[in-house]
Amino acid sequence: MGRAPYDALTVPPSDLIVHRPEGLYCPAGDFYIDPWRPVSRAVITHAHSDHARMGSAHYLAHQDSEGTLRNRLGADIDLQTLAYGDTIDHHGVRLSLHPAGHVLGSAQVRVEHGGQVWVASGDYKLEDDGTCPPFEPVRCHTFITESTFGLPIYRWPAQPALFADINAWWAANAAAGKASVLYAYAFGKAQRLLHGVDPNIGPIVVHGAVDPLNAVYRAAGVALPPTLRVTDPGATKAELRRALVLAPPSAAGTPWLKRFGEHSDAFASGWMLVRGARRRRGVDRGFVMSDHADWPSLQKAIAATGAERIIVTHGSTEVMVRWLCEQGLDAQVFATEYGADDNEDDAGAAAPPPQADAPAPEAAAP
Ligand SMILES: [Zn+2]
Ligand SMILES: [Zn+2]
Repeated sequence: MGRAPYDALTVPPSDLIVHRPEGLYCPAGDFYIDPWRPVSRAVITHAHSDHARMGSAHYLAHQDSEGTLRNRLGADIDLQTLAYGDTIDHHGVRLSLHPAGHVLGSAQVRVEHGGQVWVASGDYKLEDDGTCPPFEPVRCHTFITESTFGLPIYRWPAQPALFADINAWWAANAAAGKASVLYAYAFGKAQRLLHGVDPNIGPIVVHGAVDPLNAVYRAAGVALPPTLRVTDPGATKAELRRALVLAPPSAAGTPWLKRFGEHSDAFASGWMLVRGARRRRGVDRGFVMSDHADWPSLQKAIAATGAERIIVTHGSTEVMVRWLCEQGLDAQVFATEYGADDNEDDAGAAAPPPQADAPAPEAAAP
């Protein structure tokens, strides 16, 4: 399994997408999907740094990814964009993008050639969070899926219950005169939190790593409540004591936090379901929130494609492949370099993460 170099003799002629050292490759169309090394033509599912890497000559992505991609990969990248459902023909391969429900601009890539349809999911989530169009199942022969949280223990609370918990925590802190510092991934999670919390509880302060991504969401028409930077004149000491503060995990332990004085802190991540992960973060609270599908959603999404062949790219790949084979499906793993975006810190930097595909230790446990 995995990283064997491309060998035409071992690849059935019907395989529309194969594994190459640079990334997932479509031989018929001569393009890559989310390559982890620079290539001539890259189709990008979404702008998380492990899926969208610098250095490729030409990029194709959804139109709502334009802001985040230019922010992260450089304003002058050669980027072509598509709306969901638009099709283009490249060397006789029909390509279209479909909502993945993961973050703004996230897309599944549908590739059709010679009567075969393959769909590469990138990352996806089934529950509609209001910050991007919800996941849309696409019928296909072969589905290439992520499996970030592909273990039966991973089941997310419904969004209303999640936000009731977060609002109650913030309101209790505000009543006690303490700021509520909530650490969340700067691209995707932070905007989803902003969109979902009750802005009547108090002011919302955002870290400098979160602010530019909010601007991209707002420009794309996503409703986000007003936010302050800590340096704004409105951010008085009294206001800060009632505030919800959204910051990337990398802000923890930095001098920036000193302005808030005594505060409560929390971390929002799918990994918070596991007690050890919360303890290692050393925060007061953990909110279970992910922009990836949980275990039941992965099963549901895979079934909805109607695919008989499933290729798993990252996360709990071995467990997922075993489960799929037990269901009578033809399943295998592509060893990729994805997997950092619900795991590593992210301050909104363009640089690729120092280490990819390192699941939290719990993810590897049986
Ligand atoms: Zn992602
Ligand atoms: Zn991913």
